[in-house]
Amino acid sequence: MPAGPTEDLGAALSAAYPELSAVREVAGGKPVYLVGGAVRDLLLGRGRSDIDLVVEGDAAALAGRLGAEVVEHERFATAKAHLDGHEVDIASARAETYPRPGALPEVEPTAGIAADLARRDFTINAMAIPLRRDPELIDPHGGQGDLEAGRLRVLHPASFDDDPTRALRAARYAARFGFELEPETGTLLRQADLGTVSGDRREAELLRLAAEADAARGFALLARWGLVELRPEGAELAARVGELLSSPPWRDQAPRDRTVLVAALGPRGREAELAATPPPRPSEAVERARRADPVELALARALGAEWLDRYLLEWRDTRLEIDGEDLIAAGVAPGPALGRGLDAALRAKLDGEAIGREAELAVALAIARRPEAG
Ligand code: ATP
Repeated sequence: MPAGPTEDLGAALSAAYPELSAVREVAGGKPVYLVGGAVRDLLLGRGRSDIDLVVEGDAAALAGRLGAEVVEHERFATAKAHLDGHEVDIASARAETYPRPGALPEVEPTAGIAADLARRDFTINAMAIPLRRDPELIDPHGGQGDLEAGRLRVLHPASFDDDPTRALRAARYAARFGFELEPETGTLLRQADLGTVSGDRREAELLRLAAEADAARGFALLARWGLVELRPEGAELAARVGELLSSPPWRDQAPRDRTVLVAALGPRGREAELAATPPPRPSEAVERARRADPVELALARALGAEWLDRYLLEWRDTRLEIDGEDLIAAGVAPGPALGRGLDAALRAKLDGEAIGREAELAVALAIARRPEAG
């Protein structure tokens, strides 16, 4: 793997994160560490990640010395700083204990990095690099070996009891890196009880999984581990809709993470109905599509509703050349008749039955002047 020998760590760190030398200078002798995903990704040679720092001291004070805005977290002091345009999260070293399975942890400030690493999810995320000259990797749990072996391993047997969302995180890392569960971790993970976690926390982690490039693989793993039930063909649909929403014209038409999540796990919406039979006319296509939300539309397209491409690129933005003023000028009284007339003209235009301004006006007036049924 690209992880260099220890002597290269300092060079790799300064090359990937040159802005961190400023942190060392203002730390005032308090040890500061790069931790978590950034260390893992540096060892993997994957380039820059989000920067998480831990200080054995006051995070807010360090952020203040960096000239950063300090955000007081309600449970513990963490701070955000911007260095050369990069966001840096700074936290004071802390230990965590879980009052009961799945609850949020009780947090205690701690003097040491060791306790801070011991509260983490997997060995590959429980390493630190001190921000000092000639740093050595701090790796109390064998994370580097697990990285090299492509293995996800928890730090202790109660890890998934404490926080079952770690099982969802395992699927995210397994999908991203192609890693395997270390056997004991696999056994523990299959016993994880996601029912002890709040729906919000579960959903937040599931959405992070859904945002992965290969989310479908992660959902398939979760199903294989017995932690979720996929909807029929859920993994395939998640893969297809993820791809659909990654490039034009569908990119940004629906939130990719939420749509991939719904593709994998549900709930079912109107997508199957939209995909079942193509509408006979463009006006009906527009009517059907307008009743659906963006997630349902993207899912229907992924299920094969090709007509939705024309809806997106052409029909959805079809506008009349006339407006209500034209109908009023032709003697129609302001009121619901205007809307009925304009709607009819738009349908006719979509269906190729009213081409040009005069034809639109003729249809609109015919309908607007007709006495309302009922
Ligand atoms: P990504 O590369 O997806 O951003 P990350 O490893 O940076 O992943 P984050 O969710 O940003 O992950 O968390 C940062 C670090 O905090 C993790 O690397 C891990 O050490 C720790 N961590 C986050 N969530 C948990 C958790 N539920 N239990 C234990 N440790 C956690």
